[in-house]
Amino acid sequence: MVLFVLPATSNALCFRVSGSRGAVCVPASKKPKKMVLNHVTYSINSLCHFFGRRRFDTGDHSHNLLWLAPFSFGEAWHNNHHAFPTSAIHGLGRREIDLSGIMISALERLGLVWDVQRISPDRLAAKALTR
Ligand SMILES: [Zn+2]
Repeated sequence: MVLFVLPATSNALCFRVSGSRGAVCVPASKKPKKMVLNHVTYSINSLCHFFGRRRFDTGDHSHNLLWLAPFSFGEAWHNNHHAFPTSAIHGLGRREIDLSGIMISALERLGLVWDVQRISPDRLAAKALTR
């Protein structure tokens, strides 16, 4: 049996039986919440550059990853983010749920934040990929 530790960002201990394929990994962190948060955060910049759908022409490999959006509070609308990095809200479509964007909009309605950057329909249309 071989014990190895993945890079510090993974928070896991992995065991591999010599001569076998694959490994068994277990969380090693005493702080599982932090571990989950780290994995979701790192997933944005890894998974969202390989999987998902592209809505806008960004000249890169960014994608929107629907299933990761709720766990990442909307950050998984990564193609939207790359297309409009100054937008306060990444969920730009009606079906693109963005928990951070909902919170920002609520704070705006309460008068606690202002000058919230939003993208006009003209700018959205100008960068949209044709299907
Ligand atoms: Zn990116």
